[in-house]
Amino acid sequence: MIILPQQKPSSLARLEVITPRLMKHSPVYQDVRNRYLREKSGYDGERSLNYYFNFLPQSAIYLHGLRVEERQYTFQIDHLILFPNLFLIIEVKNNAGLIKYNTETGVLKCIKRDGTYEHYGDPFIQARIQRFKLKKLLEPSGFNVPPIHTLVVFSHQDAVLEIEGHQPDLIISQRLPWRVSELEQKYSTPIFSRDEVLKIGKMLKNKHKPKEENIIEECNIKREHIRAGVWCTNCKKFMMKRTNRNWECPSCKHKDRNAHLKALEEYRLMFGKTIKNSEAREFLQVPIHVAKRLLKKTSSSYAGETKAREYTLS
Ligand SMILES: [Zn+2]
Repeated sequence: MIILPQQKPSSLARLEVITPRLMKHSPVYQDVRNRYLREKSGYDGERSLNYYFNFLPQSAIYLHGLRVEERQYTFQIDHLILFPNLFLIIEVKNNAGLIKYNTETGVLKCIKRDGTYEHYGDPFIQARIQRFKLKKLLEPSGFNVPPIHTLVVFSHQDAVLEIEGHQPDLIISQRLPWRVSELEQKYSTPIFSRDEVLKIGKMLKNKHKPKEENIIEECNIKREHIRAGVWCTNCKKFMMKRTNRNWECPSCKHKDRNAHLKALEEYRLMFGKTIKNSEAREFLQVPIHVAKRLLKKTSSSYAGETKAREYTLS
């Protein structure tokens, strides 16, 4: 039972909107594009595990992308699965190539096809910290904390693992159902009833706080480097023109009366939920009276008068 479904991280949703609009001559263009590609591949990797979750017990409680910000503890778990006998943390890695792990040194080395390589810290140290924080979060609620086990799963289809020593918890996605079934047998004594597991799951879900990131500020993006306009809602390659109270694509000739709604949603993701007439005029590339009319129809509320009036995009 999924009680916290997977959600696209807000940073990725913002990068998806910003990257195609960012001018190529912007000094931060390459950094922003790289971050977008990195976050997209991470998210795709996490999602790719959903297929294998179908082979796991459906009676377990699933929380995807749980993020808790509590007292001194902030932690994020890619996937958390609650069984009556064990809690399972799944940490997803999306590296491709040959992945070498040494159980003695804890060094993780990823060698790409072109021969270049990168070293990473021991993923089990991070896992141990997550386990500690989760334990600390559960303890005050009076629940017996069950065994918390961590699996580090490499989700990329081109990942080949080479482990020096014995480490059954560093696996590729395909191994997931088998490893989970082994763990269920290992921890065979139920600690909770299903109702109790559900209760803990709901408590954790209530503590979930998605990370909100202001990409424009973080990446130091200048507003003048963001391309204005209403993307064609059909071909998505050109900006539409406003004619006769309608939007039309100069290339594919597609017409869409509501194309500005998508553009204003993109504006909200990039710059926040308030917008002035002058900003809408510039962004939608329309005369001021058109901007005013569209904002009045679209926004949920407004505050202030005349030029300073700010509309709220919901
Ligand atoms: Zn078009």
